[in-house]
Amino acid sequence: MRVGIGSDIHRLEEGRKLVIGGITIPYDKGEKAHSDGDVLIHAIIDAILGAYSMDDIGKHFPDNAAETEGMNSEEMLKAVLIMTQCKIVNIDTTVNLEKPRLRPYIQNIRENLSRIMEIPLDRISVKAKTAEGLGPVGEGLAISAEAAVLVSE
Ligand code: MG
Repeated sequence: MRVGIGSDIHRLEEGRKLVIGGITIPYDKGEKAHSDGDVLIHAIIDAILGAYSMDDIGKHFPDNAAETEGMNSEEMLKAVLIMTQCKIVNIDTTVNLEKPRLRPYIQNIRENLSRIMEIPLDRISVKAKTAEGLGPVGEGLAISAEAAVLVSE
């Protein structure tokens, strides 16, 4: 077994889509990013790469490269699964976001991640928290996510 952790944060900006775990959430702001800015998938990617000691997302998908501009994070995640030959045991994640409340979308997000990674639904956990008004997440300026993954060799 090997374990990995990952985290990510993006600024929230008007005129951008809010994409979390590949699901677009209706809101007037979204992640500012070179790619689609999917903070949850980015954290999961870093956790998987970390489990295999294979550097980080920025090394594999540079944020100044033309090929990664506007890139769909689902494609990045699939590429990382192939690159690592990853056998996922389970993944636990947390998304930190003041607004909107994510509860109505959690099941959709889990189902989408289960589909992308071809793992059973009960192997992927997605939790959502607010920051109680504190810091950049609490002030609605940013969204962040953490992920932990257990993989088997
Ligand atoms: Mg990111």
